[in-house]
Amino acid sequence: MQKLTTFVLAATAAFAVSAQDFPSKPITVVVPFAAGGPTDTVARQLAESMRKHLGNATIVIDNAAGAGGTIGATKVARAAPDGHTVLVWHIGMAATAGLYRKLQYKPLEDFEYLGMINDVPMTLLGSPKLPANTYRDFENYIRANGGKLNLAHAGLGSASHICGLMWQYAVKLDKSMATIAYRGTAPAMNDLIAGTVDVMCDQTTNTTSQIEAGRVKAFAVTTAKPLSDHKLLKDYPSLQEMGLKNFNLTIWHGMYAPKGTPAAITQKLNDALQAALKDPEFIKKQQALGAIVVKDNRATPAGHKAFVANQIAQLKTVIDAAGQYAD
Ligand code: ASP
Repeated sequence: MQKLTTFVLAATAAFAVSAQDFPSKPITVVVPFAAGGPTDTVARQLAESMRKHLGNATIVIDNAAGAGGTIGATKVARAAPDGHTVLVWHIGMAATAGLYRKLQYKPLEDFEYLGMINDVPMTLLGSPKLPANTYRDFENYIRANGGKLNLAHAGLGSASHICGLMWQYAVKLDKSMATIAYRGTAPAMNDLIAGTVDVMCDQTTNTTSQIEAGRVKAFAVTTAKPLSDHKLLKDYPSLQEMGLKNFNLTIWHGMYAPKGTPAAITQKLNDALQAALKDPEFIKKQQALGAIVVKDNRATPAGHKAFVANQIAQLKTVIDAAGQYAD
């Protein structure tokens, strides 16, 4: 017994030291989508702010894209639980739980929840080659030509995939569009601009600058109400206003560490996250892209986990009703 106590004390002391020294090397933020896309943008802006509260630590972004985000999530679930590898992911954390029946990790058990980051509306976009200019014209055009058009998304379980599914279901097209999966909406956006694909639903963090530059056509926002506070996006109607009853979709992002990361380290990460969520620079950059930084209880680990558990249950109902799975 004596020996065991000594060992436990020694182990606790070792952890205390490592937590105190944390971070002792660069922190890797795994982004499970391509560089330059919406999740990447959020992660980079957040890292810039968080590092100020982590002794100016070096933060490296690792774009581990593919399979709707589940490849990057698996990588983090299996990483050393020392706080130097974390994940920034969105609603896919909940959507893929219902969509993929053979995940390599358990969403609620294999991560330490560090807190939520933001809420992000989406916009429904068309290629500049489409003849429509308003949502009404767009819907009529799609009704007539839906079967011939392509819808781009960032993989099964991504935000663009869920949004595209919900929208097609709500407009009740006779023929669903062909879908094309990318490793993120950054590469998909290039093809939409070029007119290789016709339609995409994407987060405002990726679409605002493209809409402003006139490179794509924007038809509507996915939130229940229009974004009346945003200087550019306020001009677009909500899908609900356009007659799609109860259509309301907002994407959210959160941060995760591998299960077993010591509490003193997750505390440091959450403190830095909470500081970033109050950083006027970060708030301003997010607002400019239509995103809203989380201010409520979801910024705490417990609030974050409770929210995701709820979203898993909600999205599972939708996915089971659609009967479409990723495996
Ligand atoms: N968040 C994805 C990305 O960063 C896009 C998506 O989920 O639709 O590319």
